[in-house]
Amino acid sequence: MARVLFINAGSEGHINPTIGVVQELISRGEEVVYFTIEAFRERIEKTGANVRTIDGQKFLTAFLSGGRNYLLQRVNGLLRTADIVIPSVLEQIKGEDFDYIIHDSMFGCGRLLAQILKLPAINSCTSFAQTKASFDKTLEHLSKEIPAEIAKPIYDEFQNLTAMVKEKYNVEIHSPYEVFCNPAPLTIVYTTREFQPFGEAFDQTYKFVGPSISSRLSQENFDLTEIKEKSPIYISLGTVFNQAIDFYKLCFKALGNTDHTVVMSIGTKTHISDLGEIPKNFIVKNYVPQIEVLKCSKLFITHGGMNSTNEGLYYGVPLIVIPQSADQPIIAKQVANIGAGIKLEMQSLTANQLRQAVDHVLNQPSFHQVVANIRESFQKAGGYHQAVDEIFGFKNQYNI
Ligand code: UDP
Repeated sequence: MARVLFINAGSEGHINPTIGVVQELISRGEEVVYFTIEAFRERIEKTGANVRTIDGQKFLTAFLSGGRNYLLQRVNGLLRTADIVIPSVLEQIKGEDFDYIIHDSMFGCGRLLAQILKLPAINSCTSFAQTKASFDKTLEHLSKEIPAEIAKPIYDEFQNLTAMVKEKYNVEIHSPYEVFCNPAPLTIVYTTREFQPFGEAFDQTYKFVGPSISSRLSQENFDLTEIKEKSPIYISLGTVFNQAIDFYKLCFKALGNTDHTVVMSIGTKTHISDLGEIPKNFIVKNYVPQIEVLKCSKLFITHGGMNSTNEGLYYGVPLIVIPQSADQPIIAKQVANIGAGIKLEMQSLTANQLRQAVDHVLNQPSFHQVVANIRESFQKAGGYHQAVDEIFGFKNQYNI
């Protein structure tokens, strides 16, 4: 039995794929201490892990204070979380020993903690993976669009923050890539190499284990019997960029009072009562058991979050992707490229266009064929079982 330190500050999309991994680690005898934010405590405690928390509000404030307009600002935001995460974790594990660390690829300063604690590290990557070359290229490309008077202070802040980290924690940061992607000797990616853009560019330290889908171990207030036989259309913009009243109303206009049953999850930040009259064929909730809903859905209108996309394809559901932010445009593009669905633009979207897109995807057999193939490859990839096999291979390599 080894002791594992797990560092993952969320959001939900970063947590969900790790649930099965942690359960499987524990069932194979590992002891897991999992650092996250309070919002995910219950979900993770049910795996049997020992859950400890960092201050979620301070973490989010620090991250957002870096700015959201440019990639390097987000890198700075992540660096600003170092003072929230690192002292808190170090204080709470004082006097304890760990054999290895698993950290999120983005949230929680995992790479820094691995270096401070001198632990063999595993990176848990819940989006598409990025090589340093592709990240640097994107950063360079995006930097060209920033006016010089804005770019300089952002770059200066990056220099100041890395100097601060060096001084306080005695760890060198060599590039923005290290902060944004937290590279490690082993990276677990929760998709397949075939679905990953430029999959062949990744060396053997990247293990593509496919979607990690497990029971969420939480009870959501949702009557599945109502939809099981109806093969609904499912609509969700995920858990982060989901404040979109106009879009939800547009969905009413496009699909209200049709023969389709529609399940729509609007997120916890919008009140259902603000949507006005709800068409009879719609079931609208703030949150639904998405995996269970997808198991019986015929079409998924999604923002293209990595988890939602993986989950939809894992259950063989074609997609209409309407990306909102972050990595979603890239994921939407990949879905369209491989023919698993189509991509629409939120800004110019009309009810008519959405209705036509729904008809097109439902009636065009090629989407269903492609999705059936992906479903098979996703289900074969092994998910959290494969992830833990790779982690045990890593332990062997490091004599743990
Ligand atoms: N989710 C859910 N019920 C909902 C909305 C979302 O269970 O009503 C889950 C979904 O299954 C997925 C995660 O929340 O695992 C959302 O992650 P994703 O990467 O798709 O998007 P994000 O929320 O990070 O934008």
